[in-house]
Amino acid sequence: MDLLKECAGAGSIGISTHIRPDGDAVGSSMALYLYLKKRCPDAEIKLFMETPPDCFRYLKYFGDIDSTYAYDKPFDVFFVLDTVPDRLGEAEKFFEGAKKKINIDHHISNKNGCGDVNVVRPEIGSTSEVLYGLLDEAYLDTDIAVALYTGIIHDTGVFQYSNTTPQTMRVAARLMEFDFPFFKIIEESFYQKTYLQNQILGRALMESIRFMDGRCIVSCVDKKMMQFYNVEPVDLDGIVNQLRNIKGVNCAVFLYETGLMEYKVSMRSDEMVDVSKVAAYFGGGGHMRAAGCTMKGTVHDVINNLSLHIEKQLKEKEVCTTES
Ligand code: 5GP
Ligand code: MN
Repeated sequence: MDLLKECAGAGSIGISTHIRPDGDAVGSSMALYLYLKKRCPDAEIKLFMETPPDCFRYLKYFGDIDSTYAYDKPFDVFFVLDTVPDRLGEAEKFFEGAKKKINIDHHISNKNGCGDVNVVRPEIGSTSEVLYGLLDEAYLDTDIAVALYTGIIHDTGVFQYSNTTPQTMRVAARLMEFDFPFFKIIEESFYQKTYLQNQILGRALMESIRFMDGRCIVSCVDKKMMQFYNVEPVDLDGIVNQLRNIKGVNCAVFLYETGLMEYKVSMRSDEMVDVSKVAAYFGGGGHMRAAGCTMKGTVHDVINNLSLHIEKQLKEKEVCTTES
């Protein structure tokens, strides 16, 4: 896709990403916003998303993010990054009403894309890395590099997950040439947690339960617990990764209560389980090793339903390993 051709003649361009934006969502959409500001100076360009977590405030144009969604004309071009339409929240109306819809993503659960023009690359670790491939090198600058680098480190777990490729490292190396404090970005946006975030992490670890001979682990945080520690859903990021890091665990499940008999589910796995399939079955999506969905029922119903699917995959893998 040629970004400039797609935007040629557009008077208004909108950009958005998924609700509860994470590093890749914030980084990729901010990078595209800054790039298009440079390349399409005559167009009105708007960047919409729910207010991102404070740890991303180092992004220089953080203040340009519009979380009020106040705009009443149809956009000539509307980009959605790192998502499918049903996770756009309030921006879904802009996407549906846009004259041209463009989707840039890397979720395997969004294989065909949802736009008139689609660039969906499930083999690439982050939407930020996908986007890098669409930008003209000559127009990169430090602010764009910081945004892209943010997205890449968040979706690869700082170059640790299996979605990190030699190309990811080449892109990161190129971005580092812009000479920004990458170590501070990694520390402050990825690793550092507030005291309360650490406390609820500790509580979730303590109350976790292992099953299937320790190959699966689950933990749940309810609303009361969130009130007690005075935390919001964004403060729970990272808990599922910590559960997944436990020796012997193939699949970690973390739930938090979003409403009456309703839970947000986050799953992480190793090569033994494809959690994108489990999440897709329950109406969600994601990647093979990291996926999520929202489920209704009691916490026990939710865990039972998920574990049936996880167990089935583990058993199938076992048969394969014994046979080979
Ligand atoms: P997390 O567990 O960190 O919320 O999400 C893990 C991955 O699954 C991310 O790539 C995220 O975009 C995706 N994901 C999480 N929840 C949902 C959901 O409800 N629907 C879809 N389509 N994807 C989800
Ligand atoms: Mn992503």
